[in-house]
Amino acid sequence: MKRDLNMTFEEFPLNVPSEKRIINKLDGLIQELEECGSAMTATLAIKHWNKYMTQLSTDMSVIMVRYTCDTKNPVYKRAQDRCDELSPIIANYANKFSKILTKAKYRKDLEKRFGKYYFQMMDASLKTFDEKIIPELIQENKLTSEYDALLGGAEIEFRGEKYNLTQLGKFTQDVDRETRKEAAQAMDKWMGEHEEQFARIYDELVHLRDSMAKKLGYKNFVDLGYLRLGRMDYNSKKVKGYRDQIAEAVVPVAQKLYKKQMKELGIKNPQYYDYNLKFKSGNPVPAGDAKYLVDCAHKMYSDLGPESKEFFEFMMDHHLMDLEARKGKAPGGYCTNFPLYKAPFIFSNFNGTEGDVNVLCHEGGHALQAYLSFPIKIPEYQSPTLEACEIHSMSMEFFAWPYMDKFFGKDADKYRYLHLADAIEFLPYGITVDEFQHWVYEHPNASHEERCKVWKSIEDRYTPHKKYDDTPTYAHGAIWMRQSHIFSTPFYYIDYTLAQVCAFQFFVEMRKNHEKAWKKYIKLCKFGGQAPFVALLEHNHLRNPFEDGNVEKVIKPLEKVLKEFDVSKF
Ligand SMILES: [Zn+2]
Repeated sequence: MKRDLNMTFEEFPLNVPSEKRIINKLDGLIQELEECGSAMTATLAIKHWNKYMTQLSTDMSVIMVRYTCDTKNPVYKRAQDRCDELSPIIANYANKFSKILTKAKYRKDLEKRFGKYYFQMMDASLKTFDEKIIPELIQENKLTSEYDALLGGAEIEFRGEKYNLTQLGKFTQDVDRETRKEAAQAMDKWMGEHEEQFARIYDELVHLRDSMAKKLGYKNFVDLGYLRLGRMDYNSKKVKGYRDQIAEAVVPVAQKLYKKQMKELGIKNPQYYDYNLKFKSGNPVPAGDAKYLVDCAHKMYSDLGPESKEFFEFMMDHHLMDLEARKGKAPGGYCTNFPLYKAPFIFSNFNGTEGDVNVLCHEGGHALQAYLSFPIKIPEYQSPTLEACEIHSMSMEFFAWPYMDKFFGKDADKYRYLHLADAIEFLPYGITVDEFQHWVYEHPNASHEERCKVWKSIEDRYTPHKKYDDTPTYAHGAIWMRQSHIFSTPFYYIDYTLAQVCAFQFFVEMRKNHEKAWKKYIKLCKFGGQAPFVALLEHNHLRNPFEDGNVEKVIKPLEKVLKEFDVSKF
């Protein structure tokens, strides 16, 4: 049955939250819960709380989307600022709410109704927060914003013009080697000029996080970092074992791919910037404009199955996608939700590259999962932890393979090869970022130079092809400063690799039996976040990447697929 919604996105009301009203309402809801003496009355109090939170998060989501679509609009800007100020206040109330529930004498009875995991999530979030670390949390936000501003505000000189990082990025992939080299040198020079600033911001972040961890009773930040990401059924030891599996089973495969790439391109003594160029003839180009690509996506989602057809038509009918680049729009792309309307939203900046198609598949996968999980009654169960979320999006990229002839025309095979090779080559880089962060938080007092040295030694093990002869800043191991996740969301990066290993499984299964694999995928989407990562994999019959030997089993068939392509034709 089609979901009922009688408004398009433009008609969603803009409700700017007032601090007084919110505090009043939340005080009332907390009091209601405090007065509960049984699981039955508490269930009702939770229902009231959820209803208000659904409204509030929808209002804040509408503001965020309106603002990112039109950052120059003063009304939206003010509304967004208001939300930023209110977020910590709301988080504090949510914390109070969890504290009461987890300590309630009727907890056992409620667990029967809401499930153990509901309470485990609350227990975990309580272990990551205490009023005594609020000053550190505020400072942490300030520092990550400072990093974003520094990197985002980069004005880099290149051949007499000034560029930001994204703009300059285009030249580092140029088919002309000299252009790639000069662009890489310009970037390296800029990073070198700001190295002290980057190093200082990171050092402060590391010490802050270490001090928060110690205040909360942890040995260092590692376990706290894991809990902040809601990781409940795996730990840093398991992750280390997983990295070892990648090193053994994937690093040699990726190295072979790089060698082949350089042979095809005819480059001797390749430097790291040479690997940005996949094919002599450049990257694959979509076969049409935004309207054409949305039409392709419509056909694809309709063909895949009734659930995805209904989903994509809902997105189109209610104007839930803002895809094309426009002056005044925020950069990047994302998928978010309006829970009150049971509606997802996709935001992006199409620029005529293969990335546009990726948005329709990747963000489309996120949105499809959200759409299919809205019927889950307990809001906390609608969306899983972050590594599981990326399975929906990355698998959708593979389910889209048969439709690439429409999206790319003659470049379809080029895209498929690039997509799969990139996905494999990403894994060694992903574990580099992860291993580095573990070392950093286990040695919080190390100097910047020591950090760079360690980065370099990890890189030498996992991505030994990277040479930095012409770029001194990167040569001494400072390239990690460009990876924003290292600053903003510690330990998150490995999530992309975990999800990739799961998406590969869908890819292999769909080549054997497309219908069966799709059914399994839809089931996973509908499952939402009803279990932590490893349990979610078990429930949905996916191989657990942490189990020894599983990475190799997943990677083996992919090599065969890549061999089917005649790269010399590209
Ligand atoms: Zn994603």
